[in-house]
Amino acid sequence: MIDYHLHTARCGHAQGNPAEYLAVAVEKGLSEIGFADHFPLELLGFTPQEPVSMPAAELDDYIHEIKQLQKQADIAVKLAVEVDYLPGKESLTKQVLSAYDFDYIIGSVHFLADWDFTHPAHQKRYDQVDIDELYVQYFTLIQQLATSGLFDIVGHLDVIKKFSYFPRRDWSFLVDETCRVLKKADICVEVNTSGWRAPVKEVYPGVFFLSKCKEMKIPLTLGSDAHRPQEVASGLQWAKLFLHKLGINEVATFSARRRTMRPL
Ligand SMILES: [Zn+2]
Ligand SMILES: [Zn+2]
Repeated sequence: MIDYHLHTARCGHAQGNPAEYLAVAVEKGLSEIGFADHFPLELLGFTPQEPVSMPAAELDDYIHEIKQLQKQADIAVKLAVEVDYLPGKESLTKQVLSAYDFDYIIGSVHFLADWDFTHPAHQKRYDQVDIDELYVQYFTLIQQLATSGLFDIVGHLDVIKKFSYFPRRDWSFLVDETCRVLKKADICVEVNTSGWRAPVKEVYPGVFFLSKCKEMKIPLTLGSDAHRPQEVASGLQWAKLFLHKLGINEVATFSARRRTMRPL
């Protein structure tokens, strides 16, 4: 079992150091973990209202710390980051990321313009927008993220549902269209168990997306999105059962940005 989405205290809204996350991973019997803390937004030329990513000044320390841990750990430890996809900043993002040797890069959408729509403090904004349009806007960004070629994995694919706001009309066309783009881009989709801990109480992505991924042979990987050491591996056994039910029996792992499929 693998957990490819672990944060650290460096991002400012998580707790614990990498060694503490590793200890829980070993205790829970994981064979491989990956740290994917929030890449400094300031390096991508974006300053949100509240700081939600690692400060740029800590990036080198983060990398050094994970590389040290790799040497001491009894299980495989991957060095990764979770990077915001910011439309219009693709070439800057590419240039900035090219300086580092990550095992994989998770691309995520947390912002629609200046709105951090995953942040509980800004949940009220959902009441002021058309949810049908919001979903179109969000999945258009996800499609651009995939097509940009900047990332290996798309993080929490349908996190727009986090606070249980769903479109009124049928949005299966968005699922179909998005999966076609993901397949063409040959990007991996993260099965992120933090959705079960969020108000929506559903895994990211949900069953319609996962069935479509299975049908279209889109590779999947697994992550808990742990922001505390105790959350390492949270929900992974459920995710495994869920995927097996859907006939999905393998997951993607990454080294130096090369993907390998492994039995689940
Ligand atoms: Zn976070
Ligand atoms: Zn995220």
